[in-house]
Amino acid sequence: IKKIGVLTSGGDAPGMNACIRAVVRTGIYLGKEVVGIKQGYQGMVDRKFVNMDSHSVCNIIQLGGTILKTARCDEFRTYEGRQKAYKNLKKEGIDALVAIGGDGTFTGAELLSREFDIPVICVPGTIDNDLYGSDFTLGYDTANNTVIEAIDKIRDTAASHDRLFFIEVMGRDSGCIALWAGTAGGAEAILLPEKDTGIEDLIQKLEKGADSNKSSSIVIIAEGDKNGGAYHVAKLVKEKFQFYDIKVTILGHLQRGGSPTSFDRVLASRLGYAAVKALEAGETRKMVGIRGNRVKLTDLVESINNNSFKLEEDLMEMSTILTI
Ligand code: ATP
Repeated sequence: IKKIGVLTSGGDAPGMNACIRAVVRTGIYLGKEVVGIKQGYQGMVDRKFVNMDSHSVCNIIQLGGTILKTARCDEFRTYEGRQKAYKNLKKEGIDALVAIGGDGTFTGAELLSREFDIPVICVPGTIDNDLYGSDFTLGYDTANNTVIEAIDKIRDTAASHDRLFFIEVMGRDSGCIALWAGTAGGAEAILLPEKDTGIEDLIQKLEKGADSNKSSSIVIIAEGDKNGGAYHVAKLVKEKFQFYDIKVTILGHLQRGGSPTSFDRVLASRLGYAAVKALEAGETRKMVGIRGNRVKLTDLVESINNNSFKLEEDLMEMSTILTI
């Protein structure tokens, strides 16, 4: 391997820059050239390549987002699109790839690598923490801390006004952020896509809280909860339960931004370093992840096929006991 291409793809996540930095500096240390591919697979198709030296990744470890930018690229979903991308890589002399992103990014990387025989290692980068083969993904810890900060602030106003707040957090298919941040923020109830919590059950919980003189409450709702989102849940609860003044806050994209936590910076550095070392060792079509605080490789196909990521059962069980 002489020249490694690095790209970020799918949704941005805090820690991606720290990972790019680690890939560039490890590559250079091992005597390789490193090229940044802008806007994920779109940049591969459109030849948006930029040479990276050690200096080009100065002062980025603390930055959220991604200096290489990210994009969704439909052309890459077709064989012709990937062929065009591969030809561009070849012209540029790029003979190996590190792709940072979610399971869509992994699927594209796996196909490209298999069809055109180019080594690829993927790094799990998504705030959702929903990838098989890694206990944590880049950006998850930072997103949780952002949500907790918001919960704490909302709790101040909830308590002052005797209000019930429904806070919607990211997670269309995965309740990871809702469960983790809801637990850390001491939420009175947590609604997850993975668990059917009916409105009646929720109202019962809130009534119990009101009966024990709780003057305010916070309910965390993952955006993929089966009851239909925070506004809808608030409306249903309002119809049957008038004890509190009810408010809704949707945290939205602010959960994606911000300076990565120390955990995400170190995780990103470890996985970026490990990705380049794996390429150097002749590995391909693998994801580098962290399991039990050890860097582990997982087959990309295995990771993609196990996308029904399971929430930690002990956390789920505990959260039903520690909430009201
Ligand atoms: P996030 O979890 O943040 O959404 P992701 O990597 O899953 O991240 P996607 O938009 O699903 O985000 O995928 C990123 C890109 O990967 C797509 O825009 C597309 O270019 C490529 N990709 C996704 N699925 C496929 C596929 N089945 N075949 C080829 N390429 C794909």
